[in-house]
Amino acid sequence: MHDEVKSAALNPYEMAVQQFEEAADKLNLSEDMREILRQPKRELTVHFPVRLDSGRIRTFTGYRVQHNVNRGPAKGGIRYSPEVTLDEVKALAMWMAWKCAVVGIPYGGAKGGVICDPKNMSPGELERLTRRYATEISIIIGPHGDIPAPDVNTNSQVMAWIMDTYSMHEGYSIPAVVTGKPLSIGGSEGRNDATATGVLFVTRQAAKRMGMPLQGARVSIQGYGNAGSIAARLFHNEGCKVVAVSDTRGGIYNESGLDPAAVLRHKQERGSVTDFPRAQRIGVQDVLEVPCDILIPAATEGVITETNAGRIQARIVSEAANGPTTREADKILFSKGITVVPDILANAGGVTVSYFEWVQDLQSFFWGVEEITQKLEVIMNRAFAAVAEKADQYSCDMRLAANMLAISRVAEATQVRGIYP
Ligand code: NAD
Repeated sequence: MHDEVKSAALNPYEMAVQQFEEAADKLNLSEDMREILRQPKRELTVHFPVRLDSGRIRTFTGYRVQHNVNRGPAKGGIRYSPEVTLDEVKALAMWMAWKCAVVGIPYGGAKGGVICDPKNMSPGELERLTRRYATEISIIIGPHGDIPAPDVNTNSQVMAWIMDTYSMHEGYSIPAVVTGKPLSIGGSEGRNDATATGVLFVTRQAAKRMGMPLQGARVSIQGYGNAGSIAARLFHNEGCKVVAVSDTRGGIYNESGLDPAAVLRHKQERGSVTDFPRAQRIGVQDVLEVPCDILIPAATEGVITETNAGRIQARIVSEAANGPTTREADKILFSKGITVVPDILANAGGVTVSYFEWVQDLQSFFWGVEEITQKLEVIMNRAFAAVAEKADQYSCDMRLAANMLAISRVAEATQVRGIYP
């Protein structure tokens, strides 16, 4: 009984619906509209066989969920993990719908996943799993209907296999069916740095609003993967002092500032940022609580909670990770006057450059990295301004404001299109 209660409390889809209802209440959204928006449009479950290297066959389960496509085709990543559940994929699809709406790119939400343990699979097994999963979900994905991208444990190689599989079935190359592809087959310049670049753009705006100069600002970053290590480099280049970083094994701190490139080399050689010379070793969670001006959670969800929120010293929290802050923690940070730039806004640079990749693929006309960065900055700054204005108007935190803005845009598109038939 206790376990049932616990798992119900942690169900990500219920969490997503709860956040939706909070914003819907504040927007006075009608019950009819809520009825439409709180459910995904489609949930596809597939069970499919894959031949393992041993010659044995194993059946895997995968999902693809699409959440409201009134603003454009569905868009969202595919994750491979033993922890994938249909409810998690439904929640992530809903958050993608809000994320695309908040930055104003013409997409609905989607997410996909396969229950598997990719760390214990050979490249051949992963390729066969990917190609068969792509075939199974090909009845709902496509360059005009639903465009997957990488997510946890999937990468540009996995996207290349999906693009190739889909193209083989159609008889010609269709690069626009996925984003996050290698450059050689229609990927976009700037995609790798896009998430961290977007985090920098919105943080600049938040700092400007608070009259806080970025020059010399102390930055602490949890997670040193794609989002975290690139953010460290970009904030360092901006004149900030990266005082602490961490990964799963622990953190490092130096109040005079770390050299992000040297830390990355150390991590690549030793597998972790810990034991980096010229720094003090700190715990995994300490990185959130060190004295700093800007905190960038860039690792995983649920790390800032009501337990540690009171000890956070930063003035700005820019969420590179998805879902790092609980709602209870949000309230504590808000009452302390800390600005939290929420995930659906702060890390939307990734999906925005994915959108640029899709547009370039559809036109077979490719842009240079300067053009991409410039266009990304316009979109991120515009979205930040709209969310900040909403937060001021309703005297609420930026997460609620971002959700309200996103949901009102999706609701408006749904309303104006009408109910078919
Ligand atoms: P990644 O796998 O490249 O890096 C994750 C990093 O976090 C690693 O350094 C890992 O050691 C560390 N980490 C994991 N759990 C940790 C923990 N409990 N404590 C401390 N460190 C921990 O992943 P990524 O692509 O950088 O993604 C990080 C976060 O950003 C995720 O929440 C992801 O959903 C989000 N995000 C990423 C992108 C993107 O384009 N990469 C886009 C949007 C959102």
